[in-house]
Amino acid sequence: MKKLWSALLALLLACQMMAGLAEEPPDIELPEETQGPSAEPTAAPGVSWLDMDGILCLVNRDKKITKAYVPADLITPRVATRKKGMEEKILLRREAARALEELFAAAQREANHILYAASGYRSFGIQQLLFNTKVEAVGSKEAAQRTVAPAGASEHQLGLAMDIQSPNQLNLNRAFGDTEEGKWVAENAQRFGFIIRYQKDWTKITGYAYEPWHIRYVGVAHAKAMHALQIPMETYIEHIASLPEYVLRGGTDYLFVGLVSDRLAEKPVVQSFPSAPEDANAVLRAATVPYLPEGTSYEAALWAVYPTPRPTAGPRVDLDEETSLFSSSAGDIAD
Ligand SMILES: [Zn+2]
Repeated sequence: MKKLWSALLALLLACQMMAGLAEEPPDIELPEETQGPSAEPTAAPGVSWLDMDGILCLVNRDKKITKAYVPADLITPRVATRKKGMEEKILLRREAARALEELFAAAQREANHILYAASGYRSFGIQQLLFNTKVEAVGSKEAAQRTVAPAGASEHQLGLAMDIQSPNQLNLNRAFGDTEEGKWVAENAQRFGFIIRYQKDWTKITGYAYEPWHIRYVGVAHAKAMHALQIPMETYIEHIASLPEYVLRGGTDYLFVGLVSDRLAEKPVVQSFPSAPEDANAVLRAATVPYLPEGTSYEAALWAVYPTPRPTAGPRVDLDEETSLFSSSAGDIAD
């Protein structure tokens, strides 16, 4: 009897959820927080950006996330998915979700590309299930590891990674990289704070095969820097990990590219950063200016990666086009 009641309750809840979804008008006014990228940083001030709650946390087979870790600010990004109703299950941390909305909207606005979100946050338990299923299918842990991350070794658990698809490429495979959508993402994701985390020549360093569909949020400054340097996150983090927190959070891509390039070229390190300066902005400015290209002011460089407070009617947020992503066009193609 108890079972029957809980089954009925679950059915009732499911019906309510579906009704809610169907009732949502396509031209719904987006709540305040979805009208632009978040001005508030993902990590609280006391948290290091390199730790699990930070946007620069490095995760791989050697550097795993603890079993209990669940991000505190997971939300559903307002983006299209392959099938209606699927979007409810897709979660990302707030800052990454807002950035993904901008990325998808720009893909449509600038190149008329439709992108779908396929898989975002995955818990330790779900990853364990995926891995065990793969082990059963292929016969050994070693073979399974080549394509599926063991629990704790997937950055999907951080809530900062998203697997994406397009109507032309609904399977998550290498072919996505050859589609027009895949190429556009590879060329533009960094503008919105995402990197193509697992690239062709980096397998030995990242431990993962080429995955053109997997994007990782690291914030605009670091994404632009990694994109410009064309190095894996592992190498990048190795060279910036010793920088003080205010530099990691407030530096521009020019500064990070300059510092990492100097280190890669084994130049004697000329830049040193006080751990707690009286005027952090002045320190960052002085450190960045030598790396700025001619004609680029420090303010322009800073604005390009930390545009806060943002203009309310900036060119990057077009609500009409953004809304159309989850109404008519995407739905037609998905079915
Ligand atoms: Zn992925």
